[in-house]
Amino acid sequence: MTELAPDALEVLDRLDALRAADAPTHGGRVLSYVYDSGRPDLDELAARAARAVQPVNGLDPTTFGSVAVMERELVGFAREAFHGGDDVVGSVTSGGTESCILAVKTARDAWRARGGEGTPRLVAPGTVHAAFRKGAHLLGLELDIVPVDPATGGPEASAMIDRLGPDVALVVVSAPSYPFATLDPVVEVADAALAQGVDLHVDACIGGFALAFWPTEVAPWDFRVPGVTSLSADLHKYGYSPKGASVLLQRGRDRQRNQYFATTEWSGYPVVNPTLLGSKPAGPLAGAWAIVQVLGTGGFTELVGKTARATAALVDAVTAIEGLRVVGEPTGPLLAVATDEDAPAERRVDPHRWADAVRARGWQLQLQPAHRQADGTVLPRTTHLTVTPVTESTLDGLLPDLAAAADDVRGEPGLDGTALLDGLGGAAALGALAGGVDSDTAAGLLGGLGLLAADGPAVPESLAPVLALVEVLPAPLSERLLVELLGRLVEPV
Ligand SMILES: *Cc1c(COP(=O)(O)O)cnc(C)c1O
Repeated sequence: MTELAPDALEVLDRLDALRAADAPTHGGRVLSYVYDSGRPDLDELAARAARAVQPVNGLDPTTFGSVAVMERELVGFAREAFHGGDDVVGSVTSGGTESCILAVKTARDAWRARGGEGTPRLVAPGTVHAAFRKGAHLLGLELDIVPVDPATGGPEASAMIDRLGPDVALVVVSAPSYPFATLDPVVEVADAALAQGVDLHVDACIGGFALAFWPTEVAPWDFRVPGVTSLSADLHKYGYSPKGASVLLQRGRDRQRNQYFATTEWSGYPVVNPTLLGSKPAGPLAGAWAIVQVLGTGGFTELVGKTARATAALVDAVTAIEGLRVVGEPTGPLLAVATDEDAPAERRVDPHRWADAVRARGWQLQLQPAHRQADGTVLPRTTHLTVTPVTESTLDGLLPDLAAAADDVRGEPGLDGTALLDGLGGAAALGALAGGVDSDTAAGLLGGLGLLAADGPAVPESLAPVLALVEVLPAPLSERLLVELLGRLVEPV
C-alpha cells in the first residue's frame, strides 16, 4: 500500500471525526435511509470491489469491458429474481430516482413513437414515490394522482383504471409503497393497462429485492404479470450495496431503446448513454455485483428471512401498544405507525411525539406528515420504520424502548402546526407569501422558526415541529423554505 504523507493523514483524521458525528449507519439504530445486512464481510467485499474499479469510467463499456460484464450479470440476476423472460432487458442506474426518471422517459418516448401528441399523462396513486413527481416535472408529463383509501393506504384498482386513456403514457404502481408499505393492485391495473395498450411501471425500488425472497406468499407483482412493462428495484436498499446502484428492467427491446440518449451530431466522441450521467463511477456497480455474486439466491433468502421475522415482531409489538396502530396491511420490510383513533383521547399516542421519545432512547424513526388528498380525505400523520436484517438482533432492546416511549407521551396531543405559525403572522399572512419568497425572506422566516441561526442552519433536537409546519404551510412555501434550509447548509461560512 502507498504510504500517505502526514498532511494527507490529517485530512483523513478530520473525516473520521466528521463521520463520528453522523447518524450510525450500522447496528440498526436508524430505521430508514440505511440497509444493514448485519454482515461486515459484505461491506468489506463491496469496498474492495469498488476500489478495484475506482479509476474506471463507466461511460464506455467498450473501453472498460469489466463494466459490461458486471452490468450484464446484475441484470441477469434481477431478471431471474423478478421472473422476466428473454424479452426483458435492463440497466444498472445510480439509484431509485434515476431508475424511476428513466422509466418515465422510456414510456414518454414510446408513447410519442406510437403517435402520441401534446402533453402525456402519468397516472399514479398518491403514495407513489416523489421520484415520479420529479420525473414528470423534468420530462413534461402531467401528473394525474389517484387518492388512496385512508384506511388501507392503497388505491382502489377501479379508481386507477378509470383514469386510463389514450393520453396516458405511463401508469405507476408500487410494490410496496414507501409511505404505508401497501402492495398496490398490480394485477388488476396491469390487466386493464395491457388491454388499453398503456405502459405500466412497478416501483419495487424499496421492496423488490426483499419481496422476491419473502418467506410468505405475496400476490404477483413482477414480470409474471403480463401487463408490467418496466420495474425498478434498488440494489442499494435490499441488495445491501453501497449507495449508487439500482436496476431498471424493461419488457421489450424496442421499448427499452427509448431509454437511451445517443448523438453523433457533435465533433466529439459518439455519445450513447443508457442512463442520465455521462462519465460515471463503476464503484457502486462493482460493489453491488460482488455482493450479489457472493449472496446468490441462498444468501438473499437467508437475509430476507431475518428481515421478515423482525418485521412481523415489530408489527405485533406496535399493535400491542395502546394508542398506536399499524397502518393497513404492510407488505414487505417496512411499516407505518399512526394514532389509534379507537382509543380514548387520553390514551392515544401521537406518532411524532412517539418518534421523538423513541429518539431520546437512541433509535431514529422517520416522521411522515399528515396529507390532505384532492378528494378531501386526510391521510394520517405517521412514523415510518424500515426493517433490515440487523434489526432482528436488536429486538430485545428495541421493542421495550418502543413501548416505553409510548408510555412517555401517551395522552399528549400532537403538535398543531397552526399554533406554531402565530408568531409569524399566522397561516394566512404566510400563505400570501407563497408565490415569491426570495432567499433573504425565506431565511428570515426560518430564523423566526428557530431553524436558522447566525452561523447557519440549526438542526433541531425534535423534528415534530418541522413536520407539523409542513402539514399546515402551503406546499410551495414549505418547499421553498426547505430549499433555503438545505441551500444554506452547504454555503461556505
Ligand atoms: C427509495 C425509493 C425510491 C427512490 O430511490 P432513491 O434510491 O432514494 O433515489 C423510489 N421508490 C421507492 C418506493 C423508494 O422507496
